[in-house]
Amino acid sequence: MKLKETLLNIPEDENIKEQEIGDNHVGTSTDTPLRADAFEKDDDLKIELIEKHFKEIMLILGLDLNDDSLQGTPHRVAKMYVKEIFSGLKPENKPKAKLFANKYKYNEMLVEKNITFYSNCEHHFVPIVGKAHVAYISNGYVIGLSKINRIVQYFAKRPQVQERLTIQIATELKKALKTEDVAVVIDAAHMCVSSRGVQDVNSLTVTSYYGGKFAEEEKKKEFLDYLNLK
Ligand SMILES: [Zn+2]
Repeated sequence: MKLKETLLNIPEDENIKEQEIGDNHVGTSTDTPLRADAFEKDDDLKIELIEKHFKEIMLILGLDLNDDSLQGTPHRVAKMYVKEIFSGLKPENKPKAKLFANKYKYNEMLVEKNITFYSNCEHHFVPIVGKAHVAYISNGYVIGLSKINRIVQYFAKRPQVQERLTIQIATELKKALKTEDVAVVIDAAHMCVSSRGVQDVNSLTVTSYYGGKFAEEEKKKEFLDYLNLK
């Protein structure tokens, strides 16, 4: 047995090409609907333009932007949109896949649960706060645990619907791990439900994806038992 750990690096250009293809399928329901010119403006220009328009919104609402507290808000909001809460729209921010050979021959499921994320509802642009629970069965490869977390955060940082977020995370993990045996469960609270509209503060929305072996009742049950979420 080789003592040295084998590290499989996916060639960089192949990786980038995959990202581009993955993020440019604008017509399908599981992909975030993006315009063809989505990445023609750079971040600085986007911030400048959003700042201008957000200022307009505030003025229309009747806010006095000469107030010290409000003055910087348009710029802060614009920067937050582009650099933070919607930074997952940009393919180059996607975490890079680094696969490791599964040298321990661990063939059971690996569960990473309670990954906290903050997203935003694409219908109201208010927060979705939730937890993602992810599992996979190795097909000979493993990825770092922090990588799973980063994949969740990347797709959360877009205007989202929870169903699409669930599928996007699963699809990315299947691609990264070269296996269909991936499961994702998300439970989340939608501020557009709790703070407005029906004002239901206790409701949680649960979505799930069971690929490959996870479609089998036994595997599904084992996964859900780990989550205590039946
Ligand atoms: Zn909403």
